[in-house]
Amino acid sequence: MKTLDSRVGEHARGPLARGCVVGLTLWSVLCVATVGAARAQSGAAVPGAAGAPYPGMPSIAPIGVRIGKYLDVPEASKGPAIDPAKGYRTQKLGDGLYMITDNAYQSMFMVYEGGVVVVDAPPSFAKNIRAAIDEVTDKPITHVIYSHSHIDHIGGTRLLGGHPVIIAQEETKRLLARAGDPNRPLPTMTFKDRYTLKVGSQVLDLSYFGVAHEPGNIFIYAPAQKTLMVVDMVFPGWMPWRRLALAEDLAGYYEQVERVLQFPFQTLVAGHVARVGTREDVQQQLAFMKDLKAAAGDALRNTKPGEGLDAADRGNPWAVFDNYIDRVACDCVNQLTPKWSPRLAGFDVFIWDQCYSMEQSLRID
Ligand SMILES: [Zn+2]
Repeated sequence: MKTLDSRVGEHARGPLARGCVVGLTLWSVLCVATVGAARAQSGAAVPGAAGAPYPGMPSIAPIGVRIGKYLDVPEASKGPAIDPAKGYRTQKLGDGLYMITDNAYQSMFMVYEGGVVVVDAPPSFAKNIRAAIDEVTDKPITHVIYSHSHIDHIGGTRLLGGHPVIIAQEETKRLLARAGDPNRPLPTMTFKDRYTLKVGSQVLDLSYFGVAHEPGNIFIYAPAQKTLMVVDMVFPGWMPWRRLALAEDLAGYYEQVERVLQFPFQTLVAGHVARVGTREDVQQQLAFMKDLKAAAGDALRNTKPGEGLDAADRGNPWAVFDNYIDRVACDCVNQLTPKWSPRLAGFDVFIWDQCYSMEQSLRID
């Protein structure tokens, strides 16, 4: 996978080799050892070190290799700036409904006659959630909804204070009980498939469609505000986080990203990135996912196992597969780069991860 070692080796070998030109017997022995070590750095002859690049190696650096300058973030993927003195910004989404973000994470709160419902408390800005609410109302937080169990989205719940009703899907409660994390208090109310929270004149529809990102990850829909919150599934304007946001079930993930569009939402709160999403953002991500699946499938069909493998490694099935899968990923990355590198922010950061997770899912799911 690595392409740089041979150049590093050449560089290292030059001066070392020159130092050995004159030598008595003892020096000759040392020089042979030194040149041998330098040659070892070239990688060519050392088992386990990088070999020559694969034919058609993509220009985007593979996993584990440093990128000199990442691709620029397209303007359309950026969001409104954050006031550094505050560390967060609040955006009104509709009647009594607001998003809070630090431009990396997003949560939501809904104001009703008797209090406030908070959806998620990311530790990155949870200490500011009460201040954000105070800009709108001094009513107490009566309910907290967990989108899912992951600590980076709900690990700041304790900082909200009080004793709110905590609502989650029952799988989330199971995972939190197992984690035993005091910063993620257990839900006090769970549901299986669907639950409608009615507080005063406000409504939030919670629904669960099975495993995609992780068990218990729910869709939270505010019908009056036409706003859908679903976390770690869609990344408006951006490449999804590595390995399709670590989706635990890739087939379920594909199915549920499609399902997002079945909600009549106008605004999507996706839990990440610097701005809210639109229906077009979801359509764009689905188009990328479709192209990714096609490219990985095409690469799996058109790549022959064992090609270019050292003859001595033919009896090592792990080696045969590593070489095969690497070449599948190279082909996959090359197919997707022309169309998608200018369209999705962070394409270069995670495209190799996406190709590796897709080829694996296509082979085993
Ligand atoms: Zn998550």
